[in-house]
Amino acid sequence: MNKKEEELARIAEEIAQCQKCPLYKTATKPVPGQGSAEARVIFIGEAPGYYEDQSGVPFCGRAGKLLDKMLVLAGLKREDVFIGNILKHRPPGNRDPKPEEITACRGFLNRQIAVIEPEIIVTLGRFAMNKFLPEAKISQAHGQFRFVDYNDKEYILFPVYHPAAALRRTSLKETEEEDFKKLKEFLFKLSQANSPVKEELVKRDDKEKQMSLL
Ligand code: URA
Repeated sequence: MNKKEEELARIAEEIAQCQKCPLYKTATKPVPGQGSAEARVIFIGEAPGYYEDQSGVPFCGRAGKLLDKMLVLAGLKREDVFIGNILKHRPPGNRDPKPEEITACRGFLNRQIAVIEPEIIVTLGRFAMNKFLPEAKISQAHGQFRFVDYNDKEYILFPVYHPAAALRRTSLKETEEEDFKKLKEFLFKLSQANSPVKEELVKRDDKEKQMSLL
């Protein structure tokens, strides 16, 4: 194991021992997250569901099967990315995360992000998006790349709908497919030498700032 893998394993052990909120009492297994310590892309979901709670593996149920299809559209393999969640223990009956649970769990994901240092953070659904963009609406923010400063570092953020939402509505599934294809294109541009893709983002961000000043 290299240093990053060791640190991720240490965080996973701490998650397994965590009693900072009551969710550990009703959960079967912790779901710390899974994937490469060298990932260029991190995917962040909301919280483990039934199957994740049984297995300890993130996104292994129905939403996970759809995420797997989306990863193919983005030209990514599960083992090359990191997949985690805002909450590491399942909320009973899959209810929404409570603010105090999000706060209690926040440090683990922050540390995972700091260890992996991804280029791109893809948030799946509104709870993960609101970690970085507290005021944003997913219907407006999805499918757009932007820079975010988080914990003194700059990341490229790409919010998309939660795969479970895409399973419920056909029109959202099509949107999700388009967004993951955009991700593929963006990753390709990023990997090309002298690609202006980052400068274009900066310009767009400046424009957004200017617009918000108007
Ligand atoms: N939904 C999530 O948000 N995360 C999972 O791991 C599974 C389903």
